[in-house]
Amino acid sequence: MKVAVCVKQIPDPASDYSLDPATHNLVRPAEQVLDDTDRYGVEMALQIAEQHEGSVTLVSMGPSGNLQGIRQALAMGADKAVLVDDEELKGSDSLTTAKVLAAAIAREEYDLVIAGTESTDGYSGIVPQQVAALLGIPSLTYATQVDTDGSSVSIRRQTAAGYDEVSASTPVLVSVTAGVVEPRYPTFKGIMQAKQKPVDTVTAGDLGVEASPGQAIRSVQPAPAREAGEKVVDEGEAHLQVVAALEQAKVV
Ligand SMILES: Cc1cc2nc3c(=O)[nH]c(=O)nc-3n(C[C@H](O)[C@H](O)[C@H](O)COP(=O)(O)OP(=O)(O)OC[C@H]3O[C@@H](n4cnc5c(N)ncnc54)[C@H](O)[C@@H]3O)c2cc1C
Repeated sequence: MKVAVCVKQIPDPASDYSLDPATHNLVRPAEQVLDDTDRYGVEMALQIAEQHEGSVTLVSMGPSGNLQGIRQALAMGADKAVLVDDEELKGSDSLTTAKVLAAAIAREEYDLVIAGTESTDGYSGIVPQQVAALLGIPSLTYATQVDTDGSSVSIRRQTAAGYDEVSASTPVLVSVTAGVVEPRYPTFKGIMQAKQKPVDTVTAGDLGVEASPGQAIRSVQPAPAREAGEKVVDEGEAHLQVVAALEQAKVV
């Protein structure tokens, strides 16, 4: 099975970040990491490709930097990468991103497209479904388990109450949740091999996609500081207060 995986390189969430004062966009350092969300998609793709004698192609849009995040995914075992890096795409909204990713995927042979459900830095959570619609294939979203016989894919789709079982014939897109599989750590051999694997860097023009950012951030406000929680002192009745608070928050 030929699997395409959407992966995003993001600034390391553990380091400080800054915003461009003119555009309010995140300043993206050369050093970027593979979004942790996408490690699950890469692992899922590798397991499926191993079971069904396939290949894994990474597809990414964003400033290439020093390719650290892409190399991380290649070191896990992916075969090659296509990276769309184009200054004209800076500030792209999710639909433009989806158009670019769909065009990059359409150039490849694929049976299955895998994406995360929500990125760590943008977290709009709609790119995968848009990519599927643009490719004209079904999307199975929020997968906590994925099974395939090579010609159809079944997932357990996480819901508020539990899960639904849904399936579709290939080609299909699946968005996976964290925990769908346990991502492997790259081996030393994998890290060395990743340096030699092909990374095809293209522009929007190469894909025939018009770069239309479509969004402008007018202003940005810092998130309000977290307020201290309410302390409940237990004098024998604390559980009642805790239950009342949970009910008020509609958690139970
Ligand atoms: C020059 C340039 C600068 C950019 N700067 C920023 C920025 O400052 N902040 C920012 O958030 N984005 C930036 N992007 C990327 C792009 O604008 C966002 O990826 C896009 O808006 C998607 O939003 P999201 O992350 O909320 O997607 P979501 O829908 O939350 O992502 C869900 C899943 O879709 C897939 N996906 C989403 N985006 C991409 C992608 N770009 N490549 C591959 N797979 C993807 C991943 O599998 C992800 O787990 C930049 C792109 C370029 C070309």
